[in-house]
Amino acid sequence: MKNSEKIIKIYKILYEIYNNKIVILNYNNNLELLISVILSAQTTDKQVNKVTENLFKKYKIIDDYIKVDITELENDIRSIGLYKTKAKNIKNTCQKLKKEFNSKIPDNITDLMKLNGVGRKTANVVLNKAHNINEGVAIDTHMIRINNRLGFVKTKNPIIIEKYLKNILPKKYWGNYTNLIIGLGRDKCVKNPKCRKCSLKELCNYYKNNNL
Ligand code: SF4
Repeated sequence: MKNSEKIIKIYKILYEIYNNKIVILNYNNNLELLISVILSAQTTDKQVNKVTENLFKKYKIIDDYIKVDITELENDIRSIGLYKTKAKNIKNTCQKLKKEFNSKIPDNITDLMKLNGVGRKTANVVLNKAHNINEGVAIDTHMIRINNRLGFVKTKNPIIIEKYLKNILPKKYWGNYTNLIIGLGRDKCVKNPKCRKCSLKELCNYYKNNNL
């Protein structure tokens, strides 16, 4: 089976299992989306949602983040990992949005990546959700681990992985494929994978090669 056929089969299987179970970041506008995504680095969506429930009641517009004292913002997000760095990134990002982007969330990867705390993965998520643009496939640690195990790639380089997946996956699936793989990565395809209970085992190189 060609990888372009295999990945669609995998997408459909995962969609049935995980599409309704994925915890999704709660936000009401593009600014809240961007802040949530910055906060979500190395933190669960559930944890981010807990913090943003109050945060977004207090901070409504870009100026609210710009004007607040950094220590106060740190305190407001302190239950999240790396809160000091994230508070700094949020403040700097909001200053840039105001100065350079007319207080609008950019609609292209290059400008999004100029914002503090926004890497290629974050930029892809924001583009997809804020502007409905599928410009790339967001690659995180789950995507690296699992796409290697499935046999689509043999590299940890996110740029090469993204390029390959964009070649074999129809564009309409780019945004959600990452969400589904993250669902699998938290459930079955963890560090010590629970292959026997995984619905992808017949399609998975790791399973076949390790005679599980
Ligand atoms: S069969 Fe195992 S290695 Fe393959 S995707 Fe499932 S859990 Fe991961």
